[in-house]
Amino acid sequence: MKTIGIIGGGQLGLMIAEQARLLGVRTVCLDPATDAPAGAVCDDHIVGRFDDPEAVEELCRRSDVVTYEFENVPGEILIPLCGKYNIPQGYRPLYDSQDRLREKSNARDHGLRTPRFAAVDDMASLRAAVAEIGLPAVLKTRTLGYDGHGQQVLRTEEDLRKAEPLLAVPCILEEFVPFDFEASIVMVSDGERVVSFPIGRNVHRDGILDLCFVPAEVDGAVLARMKSESERFMRDCGYRGILAIEYFVRQGEIYFNEMAPRPHNSGHYTIEGATTNQFRELVRYLVGMPLEEPRLVAPTVMKNILGQDLEEARKVAAEHRPGVYVHLYGKSESRPKRKMGHITFVGMQAGEYERDWAARFV
Ligand code: ADP
Repeated sequence: MKTIGIIGGGQLGLMIAEQARLLGVRTVCLDPATDAPAGAVCDDHIVGRFDDPEAVEELCRRSDVVTYEFENVPGEILIPLCGKYNIPQGYRPLYDSQDRLREKSNARDHGLRTPRFAAVDDMASLRAAVAEIGLPAVLKTRTLGYDGHGQQVLRTEEDLRKAEPLLAVPCILEEFVPFDFEASIVMVSDGERVVSFPIGRNVHRDGILDLCFVPAEVDGAVLARMKSESERFMRDCGYRGILAIEYFVRQGEIYFNEMAPRPHNSGHYTIEGATTNQFRELVRYLVGMPLEEPRLVAPTVMKNILGQDLEEARKVAAEHRPGVYVHLYGKSESRPKRKMGHITFVGMQAGEYERDWAARFV
């Protein structure tokens, strides 16, 4: 029986472990928290830090193959281990995605359209970038941003002054794209074949993914282009394993926003809404099983459950409605804006969700 080592023990690790178990594959995760969500499902849990070389190496020793469930794994730790242990996704996709400037340059160099952007390090370069890109624009820290943290929309001169604290670290200024909608795609590649999951339309609230509607109810030609360009990008970059890309769509044009070489929140719907799911295909890739081309089972809606939604989600779970799947990640501490779970509604479209469900989560 093979063992997959997972760097990280959050909800993504938990769902990788659940699917691994169904495929007869063992898992061991590395996470500093003794009560990490994945710890409850993995066969083994190493309590240790991601930046502790000893702990990461211990994970590698106990595994046949190693993956990661978050993108900020330090290169100094992973690169030396890549030559010694089986880490087939390698460090490259992490490196390319850890810095927004590098990430967007890489996307552009591989033929994807991005919002216009410029590196910003201080007030003078911010002013120069604004002169070039115009307002409104979005100022983001180059590294360690997530769920809308570390970014600010600039609309006026006054906003530039208010943004000064962000400039304590290297930043990027991006053109503000007044998108019609956001969409994302999740792909898995074994180096030869790329399979991709049906594209969803994403709705964010306060910079955090709130809802995902699949299929994205938009022009089929736009979705087909997003699929083919994304798959070509993944091939051209030589990435293996899993990759998610988020896009803005405006007037039929698609703009690369960001990518993540790990399972993606917008792909959670695949667990029940597709014939195979993002976690399962990642596991299949890691242990050398042939990839399966996913198909949508029925129109599906995914609602993220943040701390403030948890009580309502528990009520929904107790109702046991057909086609409604409540996932709670078992995090010991609930906070507003913390991802605590998600609900998947299979056989539902946006209109029905808005009419019958939206008001339950405010
Ligand atoms: P994070 O890594 O924190 O998720 P993102 O860059 O994806 O950051 O930004 C979070 C959300 O903020 C996006 O999903 C989008 O709704 C909005 N946003 C970010 N950049 C832009 C932009 N250039 N134009 C318009 N909206 C943006």
